[in-house]
Amino acid sequence: MSYQVLARKWRPKTFAELAGQEHVVRALSNALDQQRLHHAYLLTGTRGVGKTTLARILAKSLNCESGITSTPCGQCAACREIDGGRFVDLLELDAASNTGIDNMREVLDNAQYAPTSGRFKVYIIDEVHMLSKAAFNSMLKTLEEPPEHVKFILATTDPQKIPVTVLSRCLQFNLKQIPPPVIVGHLQQVLQQEAIEFETPALQLLARAASGSMRDALSLLDQAIAHGAGRVEEAGVRFMLGSIDQTYLFAILRALAAQDGAELMAQAQRMEERSLSFDAALQDMGTLLHQIALAQTVPEALADDVPERADILALAQAFGAEDVQLYYQIVLHGRRDLGLAPDELAGFGMTLLRMLAFTPQATGSSPAPQPQRKPAPAPVPAAAIEYRAAAAPAPVVEEPAPAPVPTDTAAAASAFDGDWPALVGKLKLGGMAKMLAQHCELKSAGAGHFALCVPEEHKHLLEKVYQERLKTAIGEHFGQPWRVDFAVGAVTGVTPAVLESRDKQAKQAEAIAAIEQDTFVRELVENFDAKVVESSIKPIH
Ligand SMILES: [Zn+2]
Repeated sequence: MSYQVLARKWRPKTFAELAGQEHVVRALSNALDQQRLHHAYLLTGTRGVGKTTLARILAKSLNCESGITSTPCGQCAACREIDGGRFVDLLELDAASNTGIDNMREVLDNAQYAPTSGRFKVYIIDEVHMLSKAAFNSMLKTLEEPPEHVKFILATTDPQKIPVTVLSRCLQFNLKQIPPPVIVGHLQQVLQQEAIEFETPALQLLARAASGSMRDALSLLDQAIAHGAGRVEEAGVRFMLGSIDQTYLFAILRALAAQDGAELMAQAQRMEERSLSFDAALQDMGTLLHQIALAQTVPEALADDVPERADILALAQAFGAEDVQLYYQIVLHGRRDLGLAPDELAGFGMTLLRMLAFTPQATGSSPAPQPQRKPAPAPVPAAAIEYRAAAAPAPVVEEPAPAPVPTDTAAAASAFDGDWPALVGKLKLGGMAKMLAQHCELKSAGAGHFALCVPEEHKHLLEKVYQERLKTAIGEHFGQPWRVDFAVGAVTGVTPAVLESRDKQAKQAEAIAAIEQDTFVRELVENFDAKVVESSIKPIH
């Protein structure tokens, strides 16, 4: 049984299937249908928004045997060969690995010859900004006087790095980051066609974690399906993403509204006990404050499908507009400084205390010592009031944040026991960085050094940001900077992801066996012609 990753299986094959890029699709379709063709197209946009997918569809549009069209047939030899990645007149180059002039010359020399079977020779050059200056120059010559049968489709995440001389010869299209609701809609469609059950809030979490990239969203969905043993549930996805249960953040903001410092610290402590990532918490807190500010100023801009709409509206009432602005700033700074804090809990705790300390006093004529914004449900601890009133060095709330490092962490800092999957389980990681860790196999480990290997099919996880996050998490775990080298290659099959899915399958098989051996179930099957639906069985642990 070969499992095809969703991003590949559900890669759009027509313009109509391409989600979230309607503006580009419309312009391109019109041009194609009116036979207004350009020699060179430049597709820009961040990673995973559909640049190469769009390029391939465009290649089909240009070469479909039914004629140049915005709706390639998908049936003819040209369409099928392009879909299958074996069309002789389509050349896909990744400039990230072919930056040399030699390569470019070779490619362009070849452009002089007529296409072998298609109407056009199409060159898709991905990450074109990585080409060397000399390579750009030699490309420019061809772009100035391109043979009639040649089309260039250039794609880049960084158009600033492309020489103006090249830019000016391209028809440019900017692909947008895909908004979360569009991603949710697409994931829903995929799951329905795959006949996989899901909870919509789980998809909203995945869409948020994918930050505008459909490819990341589908990769995360793959992982969520494996993680949930064939179902996509909110709790499981939250756990998988290491994303913060929003209830913590709401509890913190409510405590802030009530000026309850002890409760603030208690929430932070609870989050620490559950090993939640404080970086992710501050990021989500920023998002939440943004939504609260929206609710205060332009309530209609707050989408109806935001899951915690009622809570957000309540907090929008509890805070003044200037409080929210200030909290937002404090949260951003807190997140930036998290790496400098003695430890993450301390950094997070200080950020919360700063929010408490710098709560703007209610403006107004009343000289009352306490703003009457909201009656505090619980008695405000004396220490918190003092701190607030002084707004300067003052006795802080009891139980200041930096708890002494627990002994097991201290022990962990000294040595690595060789168990990479177990280590990954302990790292404070979320989203794509966690996924990267789970798909890595440990090739070698030395003092302060790991060499990790990622299988070919997951190499897209090797984004610099995710590498850095993983490196940081490992460094934090061991209490010292760690050198981590990444490579792409064959793995022997003991990545944490593989182990996890094996474990899941074993438990599932066990559960199925248990059900099948149950005498009551057997009687049902034998006497009433009942059938056990295996996918309905779930292990209890
Ligand atoms: Zn065709």
